[in-house]
Amino acid sequence: MGRRFVRCPDCGGEFPDSDGPTHAYVGGSAGCWAAFGALGARELELGILGPDRLSVHAYMVQHPGEPGRRQAQSVGVHLMVLGAVLERGMPVAAAVAAMPAWLAGRPDVPWLAPPSEAYAATIETLPLTADRPALEAAVRLWAEAVWRGWSAHHATVRRWLDRGARG
Ligand SMILES: [Zn+2]
Repeated sequence: MGRRFVRCPDCGGEFPDSDGPTHAYVGGSAGCWAAFGALGARELELGILGPDRLSVHAYMVQHPGEPGRRQAQSVGVHLMVLGAVLERGMPVAAAVAAMPAWLAGRPDVPWLAPPSEAYAATIETLPLTADRPALEAAVRLWAEAVWRGWSAHHATVRRWLDRGARG
């Protein structure tokens, strides 16, 4: 018997049905959260460690969950990382190091309405068994697809980054 597939309400990917946990405020189905766990395990195996993981930011932005203060803050700061890395060439680890300062100056990040159009890529499309360069390239394309999906808010995020850069 095949496993039932369930569509993730946030990213739109199809994942095997799962009774596993979901995050307290990050959106997404249990199957999608399990796929994020599997990705993390594979990245660890390949030596792609915490602060260098672009995938975390693509995932968080693609799974905004329900409108709320913590959710808005999470999406906002992870969008800043995507913008800093993809548009401004900041290394992922440098953007991650800047996150606390970005958040400190911005206690109330407004809720940004998630895109209504389907994403060109989700965590489902990643080649988990591929070698490090191929997986990193796929994660980059995924992150770019997520960033593009939020283009209605690019101007806002760039403004936050400009302010963040001035401290
Ligand atoms: Zn998902």
